[in-house]
Amino acid sequence: MRTVKTAIYPGSFDPVTYGHIDIIERAAKLFDKLIVLVSINPMKAANFSTEERIEFLNRSLKNKDNIEIDSSSGLFIDYFIKRNADVIVKGLRAMSDFEYEFQMALINRDMCHTAETVFLSANAASMFLSSSAVKQIAMFGGDISAFVPNCIAGDIIERLKVEV
Ligand code: ADP
Repeated sequence: MRTVKTAIYPGSFDPVTYGHIDIIERAAKLFDKLIVLVSINPMKAANFSTEERIEFLNRSLKNKDNIEIDSSSGLFIDYFIKRNADVIVKGLRAMSDFEYEFQMALINRDMCHTAETVFLSANAASMFLSSSAVKQIAMFGGDISAFVPNCIAGDIIERLKVEV
């Protein structure tokens, strides 16, 4: 009998971009259930609150049939075990993502032997897209419509725009 495969896609999503959305939509097709996890990392200062990041994700994702959005402030692998998950999904952009993500995959598998990490390559259009780039453009009132959905772009600019 085939068992249900649950995958978790963790990240800061500060804010969600088309790069993240592409990974989410592809991963949701590969697994029975996908949990998009907004990770609260005390070592990484976020511009948007956890609630805002979850709300942006909710607004941006059209089809949430097998997708759940959640947040966690503890050790990721504890959440992974608690949710009885099978797979960790990560998006890979340039080579620069690889070393860090590879290290995380090994550490996670060391802590939980059944935790497999699956890497999905970024699509060509979002290869160089990051939340920090979006935030820098938004701060100066630039056009971010190519990088995040229109339904959240206005709110991002409104929150980050600085008067110069
Ligand atoms: P960022 O590095 O933009 O702050 P996150 O910490 O939210 O992003 O990243 C969560 C996951 O999403 C990581 O696996 C990261 O490599 C992946 N990711 C981020 N941006 C993209 C993108 N443009 N295309 C594909 N994957 C991405």
